This record gives sequence, structure tokens and C-alpha cells, in this order.
Amino acid sequence: MDYQLLIPAVVRRAETLFGHKTVVTRRPDRTIVRHSLREVLDRTKRLGAALQQLGVRPGDRVATLAWAGHQHLEAYYAIPSIGAVLHTLNLRLHHDDVSYIVNDADDRVLIVDESMLDLWNLVRPHVKIEHVIVTGRGGSGARVSSGASAGAGATPPANLIDYEELLAATDPSRFVEWEGDEREAAAMCYTSGTTGRPKGVLYSHRALVLHSMAEGMRDSLALAEDDTVLPIVPMFHVNAWGLPFSCAMFGCNQVYAGPYMDSKSVLELLVSERVTLTGGVPTVWIGMLQDLDRNPGAYDLSHLRSIVVGGSAVPPTMIRAFEERHGLHILQLWGMTEMSPLGTMGALPLAMRDAPVEARIRYRAKQGTPLPFVEIRARSEKGLVPWDGQTMGELEVRGPWVASEYFNVPGSSDDRFTSDGWFRTGDIVTIEERGCIEIADRSKDLVKSGGEWISSVALETALMGHPAVAEAAVVAVPHPKWDERPLAVVVLKPEQTATQEELLAFLAPKFAKWWLPDVIEFASEIPRTSVGKFKKSVLREKFQDLYNGRRPQ
Ligand code: AMP
Repeated sequence: MDYQLLIPAVVRRAETLFGHKTVVTRRPDRTIVRHSLREVLDRTKRLGAALQQLGVRPGDRVATLAWAGHQHLEAYYAIPSIGAVLHTLNLRLHHDDVSYIVNDADDRVLIVDESMLDLWNLVRPHVKIEHVIVTGRGGSGARVSSGASAGAGATPPANLIDYEELLAATDPSRFVEWEGDEREAAAMCYTSGTTGRPKGVLYSHRALVLHSMAEGMRDSLALAEDDTVLPIVPMFHVNAWGLPFSCAMFGCNQVYAGPYMDSKSVLELLVSERVTLTGGVPTVWIGMLQDLDRNPGAYDLSHLRSIVVGGSAVPPTMIRAFEERHGLHILQLWGMTEMSPLGTMGALPLAMRDAPVEARIRYRAKQGTPLPFVEIRARSEKGLVPWDGQTMGELEVRGPWVASEYFNVPGSSDDRFTSDGWFRTGDIVTIEERGCIEIADRSKDLVKSGGEWISSVALETALMGHPAVAEAAVVAVPHPKWDERPLAVVVLKPEQTATQEELLAFLAPKFAKWWLPDVIEFASEIPRTSVGKFKKSVLREKFQDLYNGRRPQ
């Protein structure tokens, strides 16, 4: 019973039982390569041995700056297998932030995609990295199914190590698997840092193993050996939601989309690889829904059992449209970088199965109930709030895969961690009697008008229910009388029209009058964060003087 929960054990299990499974990658040059999991794991051992020969020791941070693909997957498996820490860098960040993060994490080695070398060259003068290994050229043993030949791509500059040459020159039998304490770190990620500098979060082996187990549970993602999984969440965003580890644990085929997250490229892969489960932030699926609506019947997605959506609230109309128009099931999850990331899941409980369709969709648009061992509570200024589905409070969580401190910030000095061992999420929620949470807002996004809270998420998801609206974001703008008022920014669907009056009339029956935005701005797009969520800080800044008479440019 005294068995260490280690990522190397997950990788060993995959090697013993699931070597025949496939890993499919769309590379930056758009070609598609296929490997067996056995080939990927052989390369994993070579990478592990090569890193050991370069002097990487247990506990050292090894960074990646890479798209989703088999080489990144090899890093996912190899780095924790030698006891080092996989540090996935967000390749959409500004180079100053990347430099800050590399220094804060004290990364020793970097594995970088050839296509990211321009970014790396801006970072390089500001950091101390000992070895840079460049991926991007064709993998040995890879079968190229279309387009340019394997091995295409410029030769990297001399001071960089070529990933493929390194692997080819390394004897996999020299790989020494790490055996250590399950509480040691296996991976790390940085928070998106919308306020202040990004903060590092370490994930222990134990946390990631338990989190992977949870992804197999039936009320969760129900991952199993007959699944083919395409994560549309980038591999730098919270361990790709843990999917590379859980797919290894349960023996799922894996598909990686490289840099191509547009809906047409994703749809092609979903069809050609007969994907059964995919996942990503709502903005990806909003785009895909429009594609599917424009081309009904063009894509055979009959094998796709679940589209997992998280990272931002899912509009009920989106759940309904996918289901009724395309027979596709949306499963919502809520999580955070500090939670590895999964916290709650929106599976429909038995008691709701025969409820009218409206009630079922409404329930599934909530963020759901906590996974096993994730404990929740919410707090307002008056103390812990009742689980009545009405009273709002800030959600607090604890559990085996919830961080207890930030890297380099000892626990007690950050007020996100309570003295009795809970993490303050910064999400304002209601909790109903059976533990289903509904997020009203990030605390910083709430609109406080005349002393009362207005949920921007509720207004946004309602606006996205209007047939002409593609996307909507609601932000608080300062107001001389009311403190703050909600402002909506709306993107209309192509060739659709709607006026402010029409949209307000559409919202009116659903909300108290004082909740309704005073102004609806129409825009061609809503700015996005590096992981594809709406970037509300840009909108807040743009419209901050709305009630001081100065309108934005
Ligand atoms: P990140 O750490 O960047 O993944 O962001 C975590 C935050 O995303 C959470 O604290 C929530 O505010 C938000 N979030 C994640 N999933 C959902 C969801 N299903 N619905 C609403 N907000 C979500």
C-alpha cells in the first residue's frame, strides 16, 4: 500500500500496455505525422537519457516553448521521468514576460520549436539557460502522410542542439528512471498574471497522478482505452488540462493540432482521426459552431462523444445549438492554473435527467459539482455563504491537486492561501444545495452598481443567446452616480444585423432593469488573452472615460 504515485509509473504503464496506441501530430508545416506510442516512448527514453547526460538533475527545471505535438509530448513524459520539472512556457506572451518567467523559475534547459526561435532570440540576452534544444524537424521513425518531407526546415544556429540529432545519438538504455518522493514537483506553470507579475505553480507527481485518475471517472471525462483525444487547449496551458498524462494512464490515442487551432483545421482532424473527446476554451467552439451551421452535414462527427469546454463560462445557447443542430454533447468544466487544473464538472445528475430541456441546459451551463477530494466553500463579508443557489461569495477550494503556495512566494505571505489551508479562487459564485456552483464573475470583473453586484457572465451568456450575436463581453465602466455601470461589447455574426435597442429588448425579460447595460458597443472582434479568453482588461481601459464625456477612439 505504500506505493509512490509517480509520473514514471504512468509512463511505464503506457509502455507495458499501450505501446500500440497512436500519437498523431499536425506539424507547423501542416504535414501530419503518425507515431505509435511505443515509438514516442522510445524517444522519451532517449530524451531523458540525453538530458541526464547534459547534467540535468532531479528538481531542475526544464522549459519548453513549443506547439502541441509528439515532441512536446516526449518532453511531458521524459522530464518528470528523470525527476526534473517540466516547465511549459506560454509562447503567446511578450518576450519581457517570458524572460521574467524563465529567470523566476531558474530554468536550466530549454526545448524550443524552430518556429519560436525569433521569440527565443529576444529572450536569450536576459536569461541564463545552459542548453537550448531545437525541435521542429521530422521525427525519426515518423511517417509523413502529406506535403513536405520529414526533416524540412532550416539548420539551427551552431550554439543550439538539434533535438533529432540529439535523440539519434543517444542510447535509450542509458536512461535511468527517477525514483523519489511523490510530493516532489513534476511540472510547473505560471498564472496568466492579469494583476501583477505571473506566479509559478508547482505540480507534484502525486497531484498529477491523482488528477489523471479523476479524469477517467465516469462523471468526469470518462477517459478509457477506446478514446481518441484531441486537446485544443495549448500544451502550455495548465498541462494541457492534464490530458497527456491521463491519456497515457488510460491508453487513449492522442492527436495534437500543432499551431492550427482554427475551426476548419480542427474539424479536419476531428473527422480524419475519428476523435471521441476534444476540449478547449469557449471561443474555439463559438467559431466551430458557425462553421458547422454554414456547412450542415459536411463533417462526420458521429464518433465525437464529448466536447469539453472550460476556461470561461459556456453560454446555454451554445450547449443547446451543438446538441440540437449537430447532435454534439458539450461538457463544461471549471478549473484554474492553481488546480492542475480541474475543479468541477458539469455532468447532469440523475434527478435532472427527465427535467424539461430548458432546465437541463440551464443546469449544464453552470460549472458543476466538485471532483472527488476537491472540497468547496464560498465566503462573503458576512462569513461562509449558505448553499442556497442565491447567495454570492468568493469560492475557496482545497484538495490533493490544489496548490498550497506559489513558487518563490512562501505560502503565508500570499493572501490567496487561508490560514486553515484553503485556496481563495477569486471567483464569485453561488452554490446550490447539492454542491453545483455557478460562477457570476471573477471578483475583479464584477460590476458594482449602486452598491449591488451585477454578474457580467450572466449578461454575456444571455447576449450570446441572441441569434445575431457571435460574441459578447460585458465590463464595468466607472460612473459618477452609480460607481460602475455595465457596458456590453458585441460582435455580430457575419451578414447579421441588430441594434442596441433590439438587444436590450431581448435582455429585458431576463434581468432586473438596473442590470441592463446602458450602452452596447459593436465591434469586429473582442481582444483575447494568450489562452483565448476574452481580455476584459483591454475593454475596461478603452471605455473607462465613457461617462466622463470622452469616448474611446
Ligand atoms: P486560468 O488559471 O488561466 O486557467 O484561469 C482560471 C479562471 O478561469 C477561473 O478562476 C475562472 O475565473 C475562469 N474559468 C475557468 N473555467 C471556467 C468556467 N467553466 N466558467 C467560467 N469561468 C471559468
